[in-house]
Amino acid sequence: MEKRARIFSFLVITMVCVGSVLGYGDKSLFTPETAKSPLARSVFAFLESNRDQVINEWIHLTEIPSPSGHEAKRAAYMQDQFRSAGLEGVHIDAFGNVIGLWKGEPLGKNIIVTAHMDTVFQDVWEIKVKREANVLKAPGIGDDSASLINLLWSVRALKHAGFQPKNTYYFLATTGEEVGFVGMDNFLNATEESFDLVLALDGDLGKVHYGALGFGGGRITFRGPGAHTMQSRGVPNPNLAVALAIDRLYNIHLLAEPLEKWTILNIGLIGGGKVRNAVSQESFFSVDLRSADQEELKRVQREIKHICRDVATELGVDVEIDLNDDSKAYQIPNARESFLVKTVLDILAYLNVADVEVDPLGSTEANVGIEKGILSVNLGRTYGRYKHSLREEADIDGLFLAMKQILLLLICLE
Ligand SMILES: [Zn+2]
Repeated sequence: MEKRARIFSFLVITMVCVGSVLGYGDKSLFTPETAKSPLARSVFAFLESNRDQVINEWIHLTEIPSPSGHEAKRAAYMQDQFRSAGLEGVHIDAFGNVIGLWKGEPLGKNIIVTAHMDTVFQDVWEIKVKREANVLKAPGIGDDSASLINLLWSVRALKHAGFQPKNTYYFLATTGEEVGFVGMDNFLNATEESFDLVLALDGDLGKVHYGALGFGGGRITFRGPGAHTMQSRGVPNPNLAVALAIDRLYNIHLLAEPLEKWTILNIGLIGGGKVRNAVSQESFFSVDLRSADQEELKRVQREIKHICRDVATELGVDVEIDLNDDSKAYQIPNARESFLVKTVLDILAYLNVADVEVDPLGSTEANVGIEKGILSVNLGRTYGRYKHSLREEADIDGLFLAMKQILLLLICLE
């Protein structure tokens, strides 16, 4: 067998029984009795009795500015809280990630629970959270401060309830998620531990991602000699090349099904030329290309390159093709049918979370785990609106519901 094919069949064989390999089987681990157990009752009661403290800390944490690359202050806060919550081995690693362990038994699983500390607001150094009834408003209030609060209070609630895990949990507050999952990527590359599961917290409650969406777009530029309109007869026109290429790009066959091969392409920007009485010397368009499947992503990239080169040859213009070749779309075979996704969906149904969406199109830190062949899932942190904008909003009740979601999942994984 060719090496590639060998690796692939190895992956299929191991992943088909990923649940069994992990000792979890392939059925949901959730039953309504789990939610009524003394442990679950105790952690839920603890959260409710600390409702004001949860909200106040959420506001406090959000008001510590933490743009990507400048997470140190927030990291110091998280480190203190991990320590006082009773996690072990709490430290900040070489990449600025905060790590805290909750050690279980030797035969337990190694499980990462992660939320990112950074925000997209590079120039915002003054943050003031506004509260209106059930809604908090501030840049970063949801993405991803709400997840950090989920994580912190889950630990505190479980500690308070006297939880003694079989599994070992690595609680991570990471850096650089918004600039390509950098902190998480560095952590997993540097660690000598091997992990069985990754649980990432990001996005809206009810959205469940078990696969990694790849991004393979970029920019195409056509160049020609240019000419005044009066001398333009027969002169190759980069604007025409853009038009022709875009028309042909939209004829590339893109799969909508199965979801594991879902692919989309959008031309969001075009431009070219400087004045209306001359032939453009340089024209460009952008391509936003996303796919759940690496092979599909590569195939569509090849077709885009082919089309653009053909158009350039036909018209006699030069072409520069700049597409992201480092794209990483990954799927764990049968992840949708794994015990992990089934358990999460049962928990969401039990909690009456509306509008549940489950897909392999994730763009969160779970992607890094999936890329490394670790069964990983991303869970939502609360309901919110206007993410990545200064008027971002997040719902308080949604946060408490999300905390129940993650706590029930941790209890089920025992
Ligand atoms: Zn995020």
